[in-house]
Amino acid sequence: MILIMLGAPGTGKGTQGKLISDSFKIPNISTGEILRSAIEQKTQVGTEAQAFMNKGELVPDDVMIRLIKDRLVEDDCRNGFILDGFPRTVKQAEALDELFSESGLKLDYAIGLELENVKIIERLTSRRLCSACGKDYNVISNPPLKETECDVCGGEIIQRSDDTTETVSKRLSVYDEKTKPLKDYFQSKGKLKTFDADGTVEEINKKILNFLS
Ligand code: AMP
Repeated sequence: MILIMLGAPGTGKGTQGKLISDSFKIPNISTGEILRSAIEQKTQVGTEAQAFMNKGELVPDDVMIRLIKDRLVEDDCRNGFILDGFPRTVKQAEALDELFSESGLKLDYAIGLELENVKIIERLTSRRLCSACGKDYNVISNPPLKETECDVCGGEIIQRSDDTTETVSKRLSVYDEKTKPLKDYFQSKGKLKTFDADGTVEEINKKILNFLS
């Protein structure tokens, strides 16, 4: 199974991608997570990406295409994978098409998640995560038991530096301009299936899994 999670930041792509990944035993590949870990490890890609990410802008296509090409040849992708956060531009989608046809791979679906902007802003600015294990929290709907400590591993609870109100509005306008056109791109290929992302994580997951099975 090969899936692409498509939607604005805050629509739950990462959360749903991870749940589908658990159900189908295929990796969820989040380009945002790969970049954040590259920044932490101070690699060259991390250094290149950091300034763009902090401003809520997209990292250049050539950097992202290289990164995804390197990731998809890894062993765990043999039985399929979920792409969370890639492609984000038409150029990236075209490069992915080319890569798939060179490697004999076929996209099953682009899963589109839809949510209105006011709800996205509320979700993103209240989102938190564990700096050690990456577990997601939300200060309104799903807070950790202790304000600053992860329930699972005791790691420190942090806010992503690009989840501030100012950066979130920039990310949403970048999404409208650069990524939203991908819905038409996948629709015209008969690959797009959209879901209303306004609901609980479990409700939305159930709808997606029903569709996939
Ligand atoms: P995410 O965790 O998916 O919200 O991504 C966080 C940030 O990483 C984005 O705002 C971009 O700056 C960068 N990023 C992640 N994936 C891509 C991509 N496919 N193309 C360009 N930039 C990306």
